[in-house]
Amino acid sequence: MSKGANKTGKVCLAGAGPGDLGLVTLRAKECIENADVIVYDHLANPDMLGWARDDAEIIYAGKQPGESRTQQEITSLLLDGDPFVFGRGAEEAQEIATAGIPFEIVPGITSAIAGPAYAGIPMTHRAHNSHVTFFTGHEDPTKTESAIDYAALAKLGGTQVMLMGVEHLGVVTSEMLKHGVRGDLPVALVRWATTGQQETLTGTLSDIAQKVAAKNFEAPAVAVFGDVVSLRDTLNWYEKRPLLGKRIVVTRTRKQASVLSNRLRALGAHVIELPTIRIEPPSKLREFAELVQDAHTYDWIVFTSANGVEAFFDIFFKLYDDAREIGGVRIAAIGPATAQRVKDFHLHVDLQPEEFVAEAVVREFKKQGSIENERILVVRAEKARDVLPTELSATGAIVDEAFAYRTVPETRDTSGAQRQLAQGGADLVTFTSSSTVENFLALGLPWPKGMRIASIGPITSKTVRDHGLEVDVEAHRHDIDGLVQAIGKLFAR
Ligand code: SAH
Repeated sequence: MSKGANKTGKVCLAGAGPGDLGLVTLRAKECIENADVIVYDHLANPDMLGWARDDAEIIYAGKQPGESRTQQEITSLLLDGDPFVFGRGAEEAQEIATAGIPFEIVPGITSAIAGPAYAGIPMTHRAHNSHVTFFTGHEDPTKTESAIDYAALAKLGGTQVMLMGVEHLGVVTSEMLKHGVRGDLPVALVRWATTGQQETLTGTLSDIAQKVAAKNFEAPAVAVFGDVVSLRDTLNWYEKRPLLGKRIVVTRTRKQASVLSNRLRALGAHVIELPTIRIEPPSKLREFAELVQDAHTYDWIVFTSANGVEAFFDIFFKLYDDAREIGGVRIAAIGPATAQRVKDFHLHVDLQPEEFVAEAVVREFKKQGSIENERILVVRAEKARDVLPTELSATGAIVDEAFAYRTVPETRDTSGAQRQLAQGGADLVTFTSSSTVENFLALGLPWPKGMRIASIGPITSKTVRDHGLEVDVEAHRHDIDGLVQAIGKLFAR
């Protein structure tokens, strides 16, 4: 805190978990949502920054974040795993406490336990051990003598877990052997545990160092020494997921990304959320609001996207406090996700064409009888395709268009996704609309080697091809479920 600060802030030292977003505590999530400033360390999963307020200041730092900012309400320090397990959390908390700044500690799930668990290795098992030791393989380099008491470790037995220091594994294992630990003791190393990049290497105390060197098995990794490692033979679960290790780019808006991202993560993929678009209010908000106000005077409202539904009811419930003000208007929704958003507002969807092509919509309308002289309000995005209103008008309906929102390019890259893509490449990029294609390409990023393309449907695919690229897989059902299914098949081939 700077000296002149007159408002006392609060610091929240929050455990960011080992990587899997599902392993962040509810309290840590709240801290992120409320923070004015967020400082995150190099191992914390940057995707959780998506929970931050739009105006939060986000700082990537490994060092001394305790000395932060002026006059902030809350600063959240996100520290990987648990703040107090071989992290700087303890030292930072000491500094913050000494400076007299109010603080809170949010324990996290430590990689020391979660890492092995995701590799199918429990810390304890009645048949194998009754105690666990955690130690660090990376010692303070200024120390002349090792602080690790290998003789004691050897005598202790039980399960031993080492954080950091994969690069010193040779020294650690030879010291253990020297002190009498049996050479056939099972050892496992889990790197990038709980993420889509998790890898596990198993061996024995006598051969693991060699294997690590041979495979170039690098940090960050957790090492487990003990008989519990053998349980992995039956308990390995996470690494069996079909998309494990696949790096998949999600280009939807940050707000919408989570459904797709979570589905892919559940299949084991490493998701890189690189939002290319953002939803903003329409340029003529007033005009839109007037159409919403008059919605009850129409025979039909046609929603063409979930975003449109949201924007519509956002305004509707600002204007009215009673859902019945919608009157007797019938509702059409294009696509299951759009219909679902309508149903979320406890309204019935009267018409839902299976396919999102204007022709199919018109056909479906006609099935319900003539729509000549029917008044139809089409709720849609600015600059979307005109086909639907045109086709509906052609059948004699009186069509008004309500521009509910605007899709603008997302230029911010708060979670460092572009860097991740540049450094680690990707196996697949997913496009869920033409605008995601256009805005992704507009970013001008170098195309990662071998990155394939998955598209949600024919219109999006056409946009891909119009830009001279090939679509590797297209969803049969043009929604997130369909897309995830298609991706699963692509990689199963
Ligand atoms: N406070 C952290 C540990 C910080 S020390 C915790 O509780 O997990 C950093 C070390 O943690 C790394 O060198 C590595 O040994 C381990 N680590 C952290 N995240 C990891 C992950 N996702 N996979 C494997 N090891 C991890």
